[in-house]
Amino acid sequence: MQTSAPETHGDLRDALRALCAQFPPEYHRKFGENETYPVEFVDALTREGWLAAMIPEEYGGSGLGLTEASIIMEEVNRCGGNAGHCHGQMYNMGTLLRHGSDEQKQKYLPAIASGALRLQSMAVTEPTTGTDTTKLKTTAVRKGDRYVINGQKVWISRIQHSDLMILLARTTPLKDVKKKSQGLSIFMVDLKEAIGNGMEVRPIANMPGHETNEVFFDNLEIPAENLIGTEGRGFYHILDGLNAERTLIAGECIGDGYWFVDKARAYAGERIVFDRPIGQNQGVQFPIAKAYVNVEAANLMRFEAARRFDAGQDCGAQANMAKLMAADASWEAANACIQTHGGFGFAREYDVERKFREARLYQVAPISTNLILSYVGEHILGMPRSF
Ligand SMILES: Cc1cc2nc3c(=O)[nH]c(=O)nc-3n(C[C@H](O)[C@H](O)[C@H](O)COP(=O)(O)OP(=O)(O)OC[C@H]3O[C@@H](n4cnc5c(N)ncnc54)[C@H](O)[C@@H]3O)c2cc1C
Repeated sequence: MQTSAPETHGDLRDALRALCAQFPPEYHRKFGENETYPVEFVDALTREGWLAAMIPEEYGGSGLGLTEASIIMEEVNRCGGNAGHCHGQMYNMGTLLRHGSDEQKQKYLPAIASGALRLQSMAVTEPTTGTDTTKLKTTAVRKGDRYVINGQKVWISRIQHSDLMILLARTTPLKDVKKKSQGLSIFMVDLKEAIGNGMEVRPIANMPGHETNEVFFDNLEIPAENLIGTEGRGFYHILDGLNAERTLIAGECIGDGYWFVDKARAYAGERIVFDRPIGQNQGVQFPIAKAYVNVEAANLMRFEAARRFDAGQDCGAQANMAKLMAADASWEAANACIQTHGGFGFAREYDVERKFREARLYQVAPISTNLILSYVGEHILGMPRSF
C-alpha cells in the first residue's frame, strides 16, 4: 500500500516483516483467550536485537534512534501482531539510560541488550488516584541502606514476563513539598526477589488480552542503591520518557491503522453482494478512504515527533499530537474495517475483532485522549489551567 511516509528504512522494515512472517495470525489469535503472552514472538524479537534498538552500542545495543524504534513497533502491529506485549522495554530502558548511575547502567543495560534481563514493566497507576499521578499514595521510606515500600498499584503490565520493574513512589509526604510533583522517586525493583517478599501480584482479565495486574506492597524492602536518579525528582525523570513513549505508541497505532485499511480494502474488493463488490458502493468505500487519509496524516506527525526527539529538540507538542492523531486514526480505521466485514468482522478467524479490541486501548492508555487535549489546550494554546 502506498504511503506518504519517507521511503527510508526499507532494510529495517524488510527484516521485521521476515521475522513477523514466522508468526502467522493463528499464533497471535490465541493471546487473550487461553494464553496471555506471546513468549516465542517476544523471544525472537529480543534474540534479533530489536528490543535493544535504543540501547547505545557501548552497552551492547544498536544505538538507533526513536525514528527506527517507532518503525519497529509499527511493523509488529502492521504485520498483525501486538507490540503492546513488549513495548515496555523500549521506553523503560530510556529512563535508566537518562537517569541511572554508571553502576546501574553497567549492571543492567548489557544484560537487557543480550536478553538475559527483561525490563518490561513500569508501575505508576494507582486505583484511588488514577490520572492524578502526583497524588499517588504508595510510599517509599528510607530505613538505613533500604527503602520500605507500602501501597497499591493497578494495571501494571508484563510483570510475569519481566525481571525488572520501574516503580514510582512518594518519598516525601505531599504536605511537606512546595509543588505536588516534588517528593516522588523512582526505583528499580528486582521482581524475582520482591514477589512473595512484600509484593503480591494479581492478574486482571481484560479486553485487549494484556498481561496486566493489580500489585500490593506490604513492607517490601529494596536496596537504597536501587533508587534511580535523584530522590524527590522521580516525577520529572518519568516525564522525560513520556515523549518517547507517546511516539512509540503512535507508531503502533499507525501500524494498526494500515493493517485495518489494508484488510478492509481487500475485503471490499472481493465480497460480492447485490452482484457487485461491496467496495463499489461509496457508502463502503469512503469510510475506508477517510480512515486512510487520517492514518497518513498521523504518520507524518509521528515522523516529525521522532525527528525532533532524535535531534535533541523539544518534541512535547508533536509527540502528544502524534499519539492523539494516531490513536484516533487507528480507531476510525478499526470501525471502518469491522463495518466493511459485516458479520464476519465478529468472527475470531478474521482477526478484525481482535485488532479492534487491541486498538481501542489507545484512547485510554498510556494517557487518555482528554489528558492530551488538556495538554494541548493549556501548554500549547495557553488557555487556563484546568487541574
Ligand atoms: C490494558 C492496560 C494496561 C496498562 N498498563 C499500565 C502499566 O503498565 N503501568 C501503569 O502505570 N499503568 C498502566 N495502565 C493504566 C493507564 O495508564 C490508565 O488506565 C490511564 O492512564 C487512565 O487512568 P485511569 O484508568 O485511572 O482513569 P481515570 O484517571 O480514573 O480517568 C477516567 C476517565 O476520566 C477522564 N478524566 C479524568 N480526569 C479528567 C479531567 N480532569 N478532564 C477530562 N477528563 C478527565 C479520563 O480521560 C478517563 O477517560 C494500563 C491500563 C490498561 C487498561
